[in-house]
Amino acid sequence: MKRALSVMDNVDLDAVEFSRMDADWRRIRRRSLACMACGAPAFFRAASARRAASFGASHSDDCVLMSPPWSAFRFLQ
Ligand SMILES: [Zn+2]
Repeated sequence: MKRALSVMDNVDLDAVEFSRMDADWRRIRRRSLACMACGAPAFFRAASARRAASFGASHSDDCVLMSPPWSAFRFLQ
């Protein structure tokens, strides 16, 4: 997913913005990320040659980000 909630700041972060912040800032926040929809703990995935930076999470079964009918949320995935 492209965005995740920073629990300590209570703001949602874009994965690309996150990747551009300095190492100390990221280290503090890596452990306090959550899915914006279901609140599951999330983690940051750095960019690689094949994909942009993103966040991952073990979503709950009913998380709207994981259910196809909620296409309006596709931009968040
Ligand atoms: Zn979720």
